[in-house]
Parts: sequence; structure tokens; C-alpha cells
Amino acid sequence: TCCASMENDVSHRKENTLDHGLSEKIVGVLGGGQLGRMLCQAASQMAIKVNILDPMKNCPASSICHHHMVGSYDDSTTVEEFAKRCGILTVEIEHVDADTLEKLEKQGVDCQPKASTIRIIQDKFLQKVHFSGHGIPLPKFMQIDDQESAKRAGHQFGYPLMVKSRRLAYDGRGNAVAKSEEELTSAINALGGYGHGLYAEQWAPFVKELAVIVARGRSDSILCYPVVETVHRENICHIVKAPANESWKIMKLATDIASRAVASLEGAGVFAVELFLTEDGEILLNEVAPRPHNSGHHTIEACYTSQYEQHLRAVVGLPLGDPSMKAPAAIMYNILGEDEGEPGFIMAHQLIRRALCTPGASIHWYDKPDMRKQRKMGHITVVGPSMGIVETRVKSFLKENADESP
Ligand code: ATP
Ligand code: MG
Ligand code: MG
Repeated sequence: TCCASMENDVSHRKENTLDHGLSEKIVGVLGGGQLGRMLCQAASQMAIKVNILDPMKNCPASSICHHHMVGSYDDSTTVEEFAKRCGILTVEIEHVDADTLEKLEKQGVDCQPKASTIRIIQDKFLQKVHFSGHGIPLPKFMQIDDQESAKRAGHQFGYPLMVKSRRLAYDGRGNAVAKSEEELTSAINALGGYGHGLYAEQWAPFVKELAVIVARGRSDSILCYPVVETVHRENICHIVKAPANESWKIMKLATDIASRAVASLEGAGVFAVELFLTEDGEILLNEVAPRPHNSGHHTIEACYTSQYEQHLRAVVGLPLGDPSMKAPAAIMYNILGEDEGEPGFIMAHQLIRRALCTPGASIHWYDKPDMRKQRKMGHITVVGPSMGIVETRVKSFLKENADESP
């Protein structure tokens, strides 16, 4: 099930030793979605070779990576086989086989970030236990495994109550809100029942969601990107504004909490820390991703070092780059599927045509084989001299009857 030709041990060694790239080691990435694709784009600039493990033959990263092994990143034999062809293992998704990564690590395979980090993060309940144990502020939470404990959570935390799946969550699939005790059963059923591993979280009455991309090098040095505001639509990241429009005090608090959260985890790479800002200026941690993230797409055009380049620098052991912004303001707009199939493609292409005529706009199209409603198909980043001007530019391509002349 592998596109790359099978090689014997000698040629593995040869393949893992490059003469001219910035890394002598091949970077193996578990997952080949849009994040993997953008990692490959950054790698190409530095002549770093990236191998991808993804079950989908035509996944977004497949056309531009060094080798694509078609297979599951959640299958131990496949991950072990993949590891043999790589000098360093990293991830673009956390829902990978952490047991196998741990086993490989014991055998001397270089995993960045560490398997322990992936293990903690891939289970949102364990993640909460970990961060609260490290004194990171977060919404109150409690494991629920039956009707009685669910009611107890509702009683203690009040309603609305956020019920979450411990595992395999993304884009809000794995979250259900119970507005009252009567809605508990339907929320729990919507997530597949208690057997799937659920926990409850107190509702965070946030005024804004913020995010910080934090980079950690192999020497444990930590660098934070400027704090951004993320705007979600139906639980899916929709717009990112960089920098967030908040006081110096809030920006510093968010940055401090984000870097403390990352410092409590092991291994190199970039991490995305999602935060809630409450009305009284409190910052609560929502979750951490151990990899490049949607809230850092804008760094490609808006920062001196993109999160993708930074992740590669971190995992291969190169010096970290400057995370600061080189443009005063940026907005990232996610192109989400509006319709299935052809009608969805036509709508997306019309939007892209208008963006192509917008000053400061860069278009990223992920080349996903199927168009589905709410699927992340691409994104547009607009940079400019002020947030006001960037907002006007975004509005101009969102208007359907916008003038197409440049
Ligand atoms: P991602 O795609 O970022 O991995 P996810 O599926 O892991 O998302 P969460 O980040 O847990 O889901 O939640 C998605 C969104 O739901 C959050 O960005 C926020 O808007 C909302 N949300 C999550 N937890 C809470 C909470 N405790 N109180 C209020 N809103 C919440
Ligand atoms: Mg998540
Ligand atoms: Mg999230």
C-alpha cells in the first residue's frame, strides 16, 4: 500500500543522508492534509525533504512531498514502516498512534514533539488534567460516564453545559451543548453516548477567542507569535485577525499563559494555544494543538518566519526564526465548502477570482479531491497597512457583485 518503493537498509541510510539540504535528515510527517501541504511548501524553500503518511492517495500534501506512503497514521505496522524511511518524525494531526510513537522513541527514533505530548493532547480530558495540574487557568471540567455524573456536572457548572468527546475531535465535531438538564440526553446521544469517552466543561462566557502560536526549539528556547483573534462560525475557525486588538496587558497575559502551557509539554515544534478572553479580562485555555494550526496560516505572508518554516526549523534543530509581523495587519479568511460537488466549486472559484483582484491578498487552494459543506477547501490571507484597510479589502471580495477590475 505504499507509493514509495521499498528499499533495503543500506539505501535507507543513503536516503536519510542528504548532501545539500538544510537538514541531513528526512522529515516524516504523520498526516497529509492542508497543514502537511504547507509544511512541504516551506520545506521546499529550504531543500528539506518531507515524507508524508496519509491514507488518502490524493491528499493535499501528496503532490508536493518527497514521498507519500499511502497508509494509516493510526496503524502501528504502517507507522513503524514509515519511520524506517525518515530521520525525524513529526505530525500535522494529533489523532495518530501514540503507543507506536512511544515504542519507536524507546528504540531511538526521533519524534518531535515527543510522543508523551501527543498522548496528552489527543485526549482532551487528559489534556485538561495536565494543564490544570500545571496551574494553567481553564474552564472547570469533569469526566462524565453516566446520567448521574452528567447531571452532577450540570448541577455544579450550570447551563449551558458544554459536553465534549475526549478523542478524535476537530472543527467542533465532538462538542454538544446542553442548554438545560432536559437537553443532557440528546447532547450525549449526539456524541455517540457515554461509551465513546465524554467529559463536561463549564460554559466559558468569552467576549473573544484568542490564539498564540508558540515555537519551541530543540534547546527548549521558546518564541511566541503575536496574539491573534479567531472568529468561529458554527464551531469552525472562520476568520483570524492578526494582531488581536487588545490592550498590552491582555496580550502579555495571553502570551504568558500560552508559553507556560507549551513549556509544560515535551519536544520541539510549533504549538497552537487556543484561549478564551472573558469580560473581566481573564484568559482561560481552551486547547492546545502540537503542530501548525489554522490560527497561524497568516504567518506565511504576515510574519518574517511562517509557522510552517518555524516548525521545520524547530524539529530539525535549526535556529528559530523571527516570529514578528512584517505587515501591520492581516486577516486570514477560511474558504469553507458552501455546497457539495460542482456548485460548491463554482462558488469557491468566484470568491477566489474576486480575491485575486484584491490588493494584498494571497490565495491558498488545498486541492482536496471532494467539495463538501463546511470542509476547509482553502484560505485567503490579506495583509495591509492597517486593520481598517485590511477589513475593507476582505469585505470587497466577500461582496458578490464586487467589481472585478483591478
Ligand atoms: P478544533 O478544530 O479547534 O480542534 P475542536 O473540535 O477541538 O476544534 P474546541 O476547540 O473544543 O473544538 O471547541 C470549538 C469551539 O467551540 C471553540 O473554539 C469555542 O468557540 C467553542 N467552545 C469550546 N469550548 C467551550 C466552552 N467551554 N464554553 C464556550 N464555548 C466553547
Ligand atoms: Mg481541537
Ligand atoms: Mg479548538
